[in-house]
Amino acid sequence: MVKEKACSTCKILYEGQRCPICNETTFTESFKGRVRVFNPEESEVAKEMKITLKGEYAIKTK
Ligand SMILES: [Zn+2]
Repeated sequence: MVKEKACSTCKILYEGQRCPICNETTFTESFKGRVRVFNPEESEVAKEMKITLKGEYAIKTK
């Protein structure tokens, strides 16, 4: 099983070497909750979290 990482910058969950959105390699494996965003423009959660791209995000990162 691949361990998921949450980007420290934009909080997206990803597998692999670097964040697909901001290209950062800083991540955390300790995050709480997750939210899947399909329509960032219409999602209140996305607005609150400043999410602009669809994907799965951690709600809280350490
Ligand atoms: Zn990122």
